[in-house]
Amino acid sequence: MSIQKETVALIHYTLKDNQGELIDSSEGQEPLAYIHGVGQLIPGLEKELEGKVKGDKLSVTIKPEDAYGVRSDELIQDVALSNFDDPKAVQQGVQFQMQSGDSIRIATVVEVKGETVVIDLNHPLAGIELNFDVEVISTRPATAEELDHGHVHGEGGHSH
Ligand code: ZN
Repeated sequence: MSIQKETVALIHYTLKDNQGELIDSSEGQEPLAYIHGVGQLIPGLEKELEGKVKGDKLSVTIKPEDAYGVRSDELIQDVALSNFDDPKAVQQGVQFQMQSGDSIRIATVVEVKGETVVIDLNHPLAGIELNFDVEVISTRPATAEELDHGHVHGEGGHSH
């Protein structure tokens, strides 16, 4: 069967930036299992995988707009060093998780200026073109239970 909405697909992938630096890969690990069409992958990659079948290989470049978004200067913010539990650990380049409404964001410390910390709340991959090599390992329909839970069960997924 081809990949369409509510297909469970197992894929192997390698992700590189435009400089050829490896960002992420399933190489040497279990393939990634996901439910197609429910927002588990970035939109640009889901679009490319639509209609593909077991054994298909693709090399695609995804624009930031269809991946982790463009960078926004408004997401670079000043916060007081006193807000941090462990001020000594706050150093340039350090990343930490921050609760923002319902979601967890990754913040990167841009600079520490005395008692003020400049943080960047852009996703670390925002503004970056993503180059994927993907191989479709298998496809099957999602079960009602998987759709209900919003994740894959069994191979490559949850075991409960
Ligand atoms: Zn479950």
